[in-house]
Amino acid sequence: MTDIARRGLLLVMSSPSGAGKTTLSRRLLAADPSIAMSVSVTTRAPRPGEVNGRDYHFITQEDFARLRDRGDLLEYAEVFGNFYGTPKRPVMEALQAGRDVLFDIDWQGTQQLAQAMEEDLVRIFILPPSAEELRERLIGRAQDSASTVARRMAKAADEISHWPEYDYVIVNDDIDASDAEITAILRAERLRRRRRVGLTQFVRELTKNL
Ligand code: 5GP
Repeated sequence: MTDIARRGLLLVMSSPSGAGKTTLSRRLLAADPSIAMSVSVTTRAPRPGEVNGRDYHFITQEDFARLRDRGDLLEYAEVFGNFYGTPKRPVMEALQAGRDVLFDIDWQGTQQLAQAMEEDLVRIFILPPSAEELRERLIGRAQDSASTVARRMAKAADEISHWPEYDYVIVNDDIDASDAEITAILRAERLRRRRRVGLTQFVRELTKNL
């Protein structure tokens, strides 16, 4: 297949907790190992099963403040009383290597990324199919206390209100269908002319001998 050089893209997936975003991002990464996952730093405590360095870099408030003040975070936000941020260096390195980067960040972080690098950004918002389904998924996870579940339900409406700020919206009532939709979005976005920096050279060669 003709290989035309392109810039990497930044794929953001946002949703209220429990809409299936983590499952969808894991599937995407498993299906396409060329995608780099941006591992955020957070001041919140790890949940059972979460691995430091894979799910998050779990750090103290002091370390978070130091990273932020040094300008080492591409974006950051406070969510549920904890701080979350995206380390800048791994993202820049991946982009320079022509790799795509996947982000699981909230609407506040997405807005900041849009200000800094809108051209490279592809924003997907994941919606749960219904309020009942969202509640069941949050309770089913059983990783959070009842009060946390209630708080996350209350927060969901707030998070969902930002859906119009995204390029694509997926209603996740079937994980396989949603997965296929995300794959299709990624395939099309990778073909966008402005990312395919090798096209000029390719067309020059192509037309030389016409
Ligand atoms: P959780 O505590 O459930 O893992 O994440 C809570 C929320 O924080 C989710 O909406 C998640 O997308 C968001 N989040 C995780 N990492 C980051 C980050 O680095 N920046 C921002 N802005 N939000 C994040």
